Amino acid sequence: MMSRRLMVIILALGVTTGCASQPPVPAAGPDGGEEPGVVYIAGEARPIAIPVVTFRDRRGFDAYLERCAFDDGLLPGRPAPGCETPRRYRPRPSQSDGWDPKRLREEVNQFVIHYDVCVTSHRCFEVLQDLRGLSVHFMLDVDGTLYQSLDLAERARHAGVANDHSVGIEIAHVGAYPPGKDAWRKRYRLDAAGQRWLSIEEALEPPPGGPFLVAGPSDRTGVINGRRLVQAEFTEAQYRTLEVLTDFLCREFPRLRRDAPRDATGEILTRCLTKEELASFRGILGHFHVSRRKSDPGPAFRWRRILRPSRP
Ligand SMILES: [Zn+2]
Repeated sequence: MMSRRLMVIILALGVTTGCASQPPVPAAGPDGGEEPGVVYIAGEARPIAIPVVTFRDRRGFDAYLERCAFDDGLLPGRPAPGCETPRRYRPRPSQSDGWDPKRLREEVNQFVIHYDVCVTSHRCFEVLQDLRGLSVHFMLDVDGTLYQSLDLAERARHAGVANDHSVGIEIAHVGAYPPGKDAWRKRYRLDAAGQRWLSIEEALEPPPGGPFLVAGPSDRTGVINGRRLVQAEFTEAQYRTLEVLTDFLCREFPRLRRDAPRDATGEILTRCLTKEELASFRGILGHFHVSRRKSDPGPAFRWRRILRPSRP
């Protein structure tokens, strides 16, 4: 039976769909190898300064799978809706005749940041792949682990009208809520040191390897697309990984500027862009800049952490 929490997850991960064509894609199946420190761009393994668990890794999440990824899904005993989706991606417009790294570098000019409302990247991939029939290039777990689930030459289905020209990332997080409505706290509590959120089960009996980090220990409040929201902090490990990934993407894609939409005073815009603003923007976006229905990555997201080069 679908729980209320699952329904919240499904609703929160809403993105625009509608892909129709399915041109052939170069083989990119798992080879069983461990390949930390590379990101795949048009079939080329590009070095990055942090480990990356890619779709080729046996521990990875492979959005090239044309079936469900998990047998013990969120809907035991029933086929998950996303399992009927043959492909959860398609080549970008510039790549429809085959991968072309030069044209790809010209085409990619936006980086869209999401939170997943799934708490972990494992659950995020399960919801995207098995329930929603959707995809995203990267997932960033609470412990800072970075997953790549599709080559960046692919048009992932994560941000509607921004899909053609963007790279997307889902950051593991519980989400943002109106004041007093942060229901996730009913399932999680801070540990004795006030550092880590534990599920109720983990608080009673910590799992092997230590407690499960869900979110940073403090909250931030702000208004996104006209809605006042409260949100727990992202984790320091997530910011450190995101800094390095942003460095990498801005190097690889010269049209991707290291900036976010700003108002006349230089503050980061907290509203959806107009169609014209979005079409001309080159840089880093929150999902809420793309869709007025969206709030991610929320008021707690510290834009300054990624709008400057990371520390050496
Ligand atoms: Zn989103």
